[in-house]
Amino acid sequence: MWGTTVYGMDAFFVSYKTPDVALLLSAVAAVLFVVSAVLVIATFDRWVQSEDKFTRLRFEAGSALCVFILSSIFLFSGVPYFVDAFSNRIIPAFSREGVALSSASRASESVTDVEQRFAQEAATLFNASIVVDLHCDALLWPKRNLLTRNTWGHVDIPRLREGNVALQVFALVTGVPLLQNYETNAEPGLFSDAVTLKYIVERQPLSAIRSRMGRVQLQASKLFDVAKRSNGIFRVITSAEDLALYLRSRVDSQSRLSAGLLAIEGVHALDKSVWNVDKCYDAGVRIVGISHFFDTEFGGSAHGVGKGGLTDLGMQLLGRMESKRMIVDLAHASTSLIDDVLEKATRPVIVSHTGIHAVCNSTRNLRDHHIQRIAKMQGLIGITFFRPAICGHDKDPIAEIVDQIEYVVGMVGARYVSLGSDWDGAVSTAVDSSQVDRIAYALLERGFSKAAVRLILGENAVRFFLKNLP
Ligand SMILES: [Zn+2]
Repeated sequence: MWGTTVYGMDAFFVSYKTPDVALLLSAVAAVLFVVSAVLVIATFDRWVQSEDKFTRLRFEAGSALCVFILSSIFLFSGVPYFVDAFSNRIIPAFSREGVALSSASRASESVTDVEQRFAQEAATLFNASIVVDLHCDALLWPKRNLLTRNTWGHVDIPRLREGNVALQVFALVTGVPLLQNYETNAEPGLFSDAVTLKYIVERQPLSAIRSRMGRVQLQASKLFDVAKRSNGIFRVITSAEDLALYLRSRVDSQSRLSAGLLAIEGVHALDKSVWNVDKCYDAGVRIVGISHFFDTEFGGSAHGVGKGGLTDLGMQLLGRMESKRMIVDLAHASTSLIDDVLEKATRPVIVSHTGIHAVCNSTRNLRDHHIQRIAKMQGLIGITFFRPAICGHDKDPIAEIVDQIEYVVGMVGARYVSLGSDWDGAVSTAVDSSQVDRIAYALLERGFSKAAVRLILGENAVRFFLKNLP
């Protein structure tokens, strides 16, 4: 219901600021809940002590109680759903014939034979390709059943299969400043952390409300649980051998199986201890994003206060991760941190979801010299789909994604670029996980060779993970 109701609304709802609307409505619900709770206690107390039980006090206490009950229902049952629905939107597709056609090569009377043939070729290429996406935050929305097709959000298993996504990286988000911005954020305290408040409202286990490692373990176990209940159509990959076996069975079964790979987004998840990276590994995590929205004891964020490089503790962490063959992800890292890691790392790194600074001047986007060094070390750059990182609001949003890809390919070739959507990261994107064919179509339309499109869609990522996973 949400899908049809909300997708039809105007640009207000598809702006990247929609999380602010969700935040505002949640705040209103929370304020009503607290104020009415206080009023209930205050008025009932007075009512009990009052001589006349049928005075105005009874009306006041009853009203406060009603508001309290309604706001509790809304806060604890409604908010977790609508925050998800409002936060993870799809920008309505531009009514370009190409975009419409690319969706499963549907023929239309309004297009020529040549266009139809092009669409058919694009669909054939797409269906035969391996598709990999390097970043989504779907596990941050526990009220969404990933085993059913939802009408909101970007990722669930049915949509991954529809979109031919063979491998999806699921990042675990464990701490975000409540009023985050792109420029400068301090580390949030327990109750100025949006994830804490979200977890309270969602009535998550105390271990996950109290500690970030608890959040890692909770979200990771959820993905394994999804795999267990999927009747074999989805699995969690934890090694190169796993991946090779899975890819073989995908070909043998000739069906669109899907799989996930676990990552953490920001090493604040480690609760300040290097050794907790072992616990992450044991929970199935194989990719570690060093930074998210604020600086940590380990290193700086592009959105932090100091935006520093790798600290001594960060060096220890890098050594520990490399010894376990965990993959370093530099998305959201400060430029100094990227410099330091590229200097010290002995294994190739990824930037799972990024825009390109030369195309879109954003503080979180990757600079030219970093692109060159990452390519030189056989790393991987995942191009994100969400607008603040790819800029421009007048163009076809899919063309904006292709602009970033084109720039990197122009600089270092097609072997180091991949898709890194940021689906379900409280962002609006042009396509959800069932619609990656539109990106393939747009790449072909821009003049990329079929071989290059296959590399970008997933072959690069598969090659990288087969070589670098434990
Ligand atoms: Zn991110």
